[in-house]
Amino acid sequence: MLKAISGRRLPTEDLRAQKKVESVLDLIGDTPLLEICKITQGIARGVRIFAKLEGFNPGGSVKDRAAWRMVRDGIESGRLAKGKTILDSTSGNTGIALAMIGAVLGYPVELVMPSNVSAERKRMIGAFGAKVILSDPLEGSDGAIRLCRKILEQNPQKYFKPDQYFNPMNSQAHYEGTGPEIYRQTRGEITHFIAGIGTGGTIMGAGRYLRERNPRIRVIAVEPDDALHGLEGLKHMASSIVPGIYHEEELDDKIPVATEAAYSMVYRLSQEEGILVGQSSGAAMHATLEVARRLSSGTLVTLFPDFGDKYLTTNLWVGWRDRLSVGNLNFSI
Ligand code: PMP
Repeated sequence: MLKAISGRRLPTEDLRAQKKVESVLDLIGDTPLLEICKITQGIARGVRIFAKLEGFNPGGSVKDRAAWRMVRDGIESGRLAKGKTILDSTSGNTGIALAMIGAVLGYPVELVMPSNVSAERKRMIGAFGAKVILSDPLEGSDGAIRLCRKILEQNPQKYFKPDQYFNPMNSQAHYEGTGPEIYRQTRGEITHFIAGIGTGGTIMGAGRYLRERNPRIRVIAVEPDDALHGLEGLKHMASSIVPGIYHEEELDDKIPVATEAAYSMVYRLSQEEGILVGQSSGAAMHATLEVARRLSSGTLVTLFPDFGDKYLTTNLWVGWRDRLSVGNLNFSI
């Protein structure tokens, strides 16, 4: 059922298969592109859909790329000297990435996040040896941003703050990595790039690269349809602090997705395609199918930011699952 975009492997993929690495950081990027074939029924024959599987990064998400790029820049610019602590606010995946990177390089890491993020995320961060500071769950990721600023103001010399919402290296990671990988993996055939917005790093950086290669490529963002949503990792821009790296005018379109629609798509992806992803991947897939239904031909690429194992104890699988009659969900947790 799964078709490679070409039978012939690219030389770089051969190298990757043989690669021996000295550090887990060398495993960041070069993620696979999976063709989605089964849940695409009803889509015109000339339309192909691919998903970039960012869960294959060593920290388990797309945020490894941005975190590593921001830390490298901090070291190169002298702002992250030995003895400093890495501090940031994060809804989870950036925190996991920073904690992993801090462990490898020997920097202490402190992370501020809303107390209602999944238990697995908090534990993973702790497992890498980082300190978790919890902010008010009702204030969401903006509350974490505000508390983090306060901690930094109290002791500015102690910390290096990558500041993912305002650091251009966040989107640069995708301009240098994700974008070129997608262009190469589709042999330049990509017509649409569709991805969720959290900080906006992925869509801005990869979108900018792809459009420079081919101005006809459409860059389409996906966001929750409401301020109160269950799509961990994504931001509803109209009701949020707008990230400094986010430039809406560079997008061709923005598709709102309801939490229920995204969750239903997660269930379909796991039970029909055999790929267990997180909520934001479900939202991205839902929006991609919406775009695909309008087309008679095209090569659509979306991005699945992480896998779903981190979310098995969240509302995605406990509670909501029982209210949605989708797929074969006859099991109890
Ligand atoms: N999905 C998940 C699960 C995430 O953790 C994030 C990062 N917040 C995103 C999507 C959005 O990625 P970006 O920050 O690059 O916009």
